[in-house]
Amino acid sequence: MLPKNDHFRIARERMVEHQIVSRGVKDKRVIEAMKKVPRHLFVDEALHDQAYGDFPLPIGSGQTISQPYIVAVMTQELGLKGGEKVLEIGTGSGYQAAILCELARQVFSVERIPGLIQGARRVLDRLGYHNVMIKLDDGTWGWKEYAPYDAILVTAGSPVIPTPLLDQLKDPGVMVVPVGDEYSQVLTKVTKQNGKINSKYLEGVRFVKLIGDHGWRV
Ligand code: SAH
Repeated sequence: MLPKNDHFRIARERMVEHQIVSRGVKDKRVIEAMKKVPRHLFVDEALHDQAYGDFPLPIGSGQTISQPYIVAVMTQELGLKGGEKVLEIGTGSGYQAAILCELARQVFSVERIPGLIQGARRVLDRLGYHNVMIKLDDGTWGWKEYAPYDAILVTAGSPVIPTPLLDQLKDPGVMVVPVGDEYSQVLTKVTKQNGKINSKYLEGVRFVKLIGDHGWRV
């Protein structure tokens, strides 16, 4: 039998080839980051063997860690080069934050459920990701103190694009956010350039609700 870590590394490489590269994700830095970050450590031990499957998984408190392919697509659309300051809304397990830590200079992540923050912080610390700050708050208000951000990633579905996030996006800057009703959303890429806002629709997705003053009320 293979040692556990080799087993997970091989599962991870297969995940990247079969679910991500084969579906057209091309950004080499995103591909490398997804090969590197040990996704299984971000889910409950009972789910370790499912962590590299082609589906979302429960992370407690009724929330989910996104399907690996969706993480790859959303991250690729941010076009990160390495020097950016990124804001993530919906820390959840911390997995997406770890991917962002690999690709940007500084990551700020906001989560509204205290229990999830503790778990995310523990695993991010254990893996040595020190370029991430996490706060407990309603992320539909963004994180004003460190604004503006080169890139913003919202990992929960919203009925509208929260205005504070648009305000906290740098010019030029890019934001990816799932927008729609509570059952299905469209992954929306919002760019700000020369004071103008542009929106482009990427693909259909299904996320848990973004709950807050500028998202869903409950
Ligand atoms: N990015 C996460 C997946 C997040 S699931 C990961 O990699 O695991 C969506 C998360 O958004 C949930 O944890 C949910 O609690 C959180 N969330 C929902 N509304 C929020 C809000 N207004 N502010 C911050 N977090 C929110």
